[in-house]
Amino acid sequence: MSAERVSSLSKAIFIAAGSICFVGAFATLNFPALDLGYLLLLCFGILVAPRMTLTLPRSKFAISFADALVLLTFLRYGGQAAIILTVVETSSNCLYLRSRGFPFGRLMIPSNVAINTIATTATFGVWFLISQTGYVSLDLTKTQHLITILGCLAMTQFLISSLAAAVFQVLKDGQNLWETWKKDCFSSSMSHIVGAGLAGMVYKLINYGDVVTASIAATALIVAFLNYRQSIAEINTAIGQVEEAERQKAEMERNRRLEAEEFANQLSISLAKEEQANKALRKSERDFQHAALHDSLTGLANRKQFGDVLRRMIAEYKIDSSSEFQVLFLDIRSFKNINDTLGHTIGDKVLTIAAKRFVRMLDPHDIVARIGGDEFAIVLRGIGSSGKALKVARRIYQNITQPFSLSGNHITVDVNIGIAPCDAEYDTPEEILRDADIAMHYAKEKNNGIAVFTKELRSRFLERVRFEMDLRHAIDRGELALHYQPIISLSDGRLIGFEALLRWHHSEFGMIPPNKFIPIAEDSGLIKPITVWILEDACRQLARWQKISNEYESLVVSVNISGKHLSDNDLIDDVENALQVSRIDPSTLKLEVTESAAMENPEHTIGMLNELKKIGVQLSIDDFGTGYSSLSYLHRLPFDTLKIDRSFVYSVGEGGENAEILQTIISLAKNLKMRVVAEGIETENQLGLLQSLGCDYGQGFLIAKPKGREETERLLYQRPEWLPQDQSDRFEPVHDHVAEEQIHVF
Ligand code: C2E
Ligand code: MG
Ligand code: MG
Repeated sequence: MSAERVSSLSKAIFIAAGSICFVGAFATLNFPALDLGYLLLLCFGILVAPRMTLTLPRSKFAISFADALVLLTFLRYGGQAAIILTVVETSSNCLYLRSRGFPFGRLMIPSNVAINTIATTATFGVWFLISQTGYVSLDLTKTQHLITILGCLAMTQFLISSLAAAVFQVLKDGQNLWETWKKDCFSSSMSHIVGAGLAGMVYKLINYGDVVTASIAATALIVAFLNYRQSIAEINTAIGQVEEAERQKAEMERNRRLEAEEFANQLSISLAKEEQANKALRKSERDFQHAALHDSLTGLANRKQFGDVLRRMIAEYKIDSSSEFQVLFLDIRSFKNINDTLGHTIGDKVLTIAAKRFVRMLDPHDIVARIGGDEFAIVLRGIGSSGKALKVARRIYQNITQPFSLSGNHITVDVNIGIAPCDAEYDTPEEILRDADIAMHYAKEKNNGIAVFTKELRSRFLERVRFEMDLRHAIDRGELALHYQPIISLSDGRLIGFEALLRWHHSEFGMIPPNKFIPIAEDSGLIKPITVWILEDACRQLARWQKISNEYESLVVSVNISGKHLSDNDLIDDVENALQVSRIDPSTLKLEVTESAAMENPEHTIGMLNELKKIGVQLSIDDFGTGYSSLSYLHRLPFDTLKIDRSFVYSVGEGGENAEILQTIISLAKNLKMRVVAEGIETENQLGLLQSLGCDYGQGFLIAKPKGREETERLLYQRPEWLPQDQSDRFEPVHDHVAEEQIHVF
């Protein structure tokens, strides 16, 4: 059973017992013995007594006049009258308290009334025992007897009512009975003691005092009561003020504590914020340092960091020659093409993929860095021999050249790798990197993929640098000149025109062949100004020659255009300019583009050639058969002429072997509606074969070697038979400076 139910049940039992007591008292009440005094007592109990309860300051004691009333009624009118007064007084007291806001729970008022009723009934029982049984003869006129009996009655009433109240409390909250009684109920003893005293005093006055004494005593009592009540009220007010002050102080302290807590909170928040800001600062500092030393695209070390590491390693190697290392310089081949054709986003992704592949192929203690657009460098630690470095480089090469697909494009990355071994002669990172770069350039030139640096490479490189510098001034110094090689019609021997071939007569080293200096010119970008000069010079020359006679009016000059120049839109202006200054018919200028240059970026070539065609110039695909043309592109390229590479002509044997290739190329050209030129005709056999295969034009030493301007002009006036009549060279011996002069090979 729940505690609440037990509490309710016990209250009900008490209420029932109290009701029985009340009914019993009412039934046995001696009504005739009651007088006006009893009525006054009842009125006093209903109206006055509840309002006269005095609560002692800071104590649970309360002095109630109810007990005095009950005991006085007891002495004067007997137990039953006291029981009824108890019921009346307790009820009105409870109702009064409730009207003042005291919170009475369910059944609390009737159970309180019942407890007091039972206590008064018990008191009546004790009185009955004492007075009616005859064991003790009581004489209430005697003060001692009166005090004794009042003491007994008050004690009984106190014990019964306090115990019952304690029992209720215990049933409600399950606490210890003794503790509960001591704590909550003992205090009511004061009320009973004072009540008994008052009752005795009033009883004595009513019964044994005269009116004057009673009046004086009553007045004194009222005055004392009022005084006492006032001083208690004052004390209570003072206490209230103190308590209010204490409460305010406590409130202030609480506020202060809250403020302090709030302040502490704010402080910890701002400390946390400061810590966060510090963290962010430290992070941005780290990021900044990272950015200063790393490449933002690939996350690899940058040139600066690479240089720092290399500098330390060079210093270490000088002290301890066992701390060997190798430096690899890697350059992605044709990366510009990837960027130009697929866009920079794809280009960036290609670089990122390449970087990841490099890292994957290396030991964790090796270092990879991006040191330029498409240039990477690697330090292989602990590797002394170039052989081992070559092995690693080959592994890297194999891995990096694995094709992959990116946004639907199949991409193959190719690299050139140069290797420079550590050497005590190096003092700075730039020196060893430069040598690795030299080796890389050599690999690029030789189309090898990988090359190891040697001292010879360096002198070759230095020579190259020297030539590059000299080439810059070659035009101004008049060291460059054009030689012209005739091109004739193979069917009737008619002179069609010339191919302009560049010659460099170096002031110190003599004649330098074009296949040696043209690549330098291309790498350094000098090829563009040089070609501008060639275009103007060749066109001017042609204009003059065309005027020699009517038969030369439609002579054509072929100018070789480098792949580097072809990718530059300025070429259009350069050609237009040459045509303008020379005033030749555009169709008498032919531009030769090698097959490999045309196929490097076929889409761009198509666009460029179409633009050139609009100007009216002729176009020729040079060295055909060496550049792996895609047929699908070939028919879209607006070439007028196809020039068979001389290696195919050369390979034709005395008995006409390998003629099939020539046949195939000539048929292909015809199908593509192009005229065919064969270059490198050296023998009559080759000439005869080409004629029989229906090749349109020919060029070669058999017909004429390239010659200088004056010699060529002389030939124009001589009007020789260009087609040989017999085995012997019918023309004056030609002097190709390139072939005959001492050539500086580097
Ligand atoms: P190319 O355009 O194929 O020029 C033909 C080359 O074949 C010339 O070499 C010429 O002298 C050579 N040749 C002609 N007939 C014969 C022959 O019967 N037998 C042999 N063995 N060779 C013959 P050259 O003048 O040394 O030029 C070499 C290459 O250098 C040219 O090949 C061309 O690609 C390039 N080149 C020459 N001049 C220029 C120029 O002004 N600009 C550009 N961009 N390249 C040029
Ligand atoms: Mg050519
Ligand atoms: Mg050629």
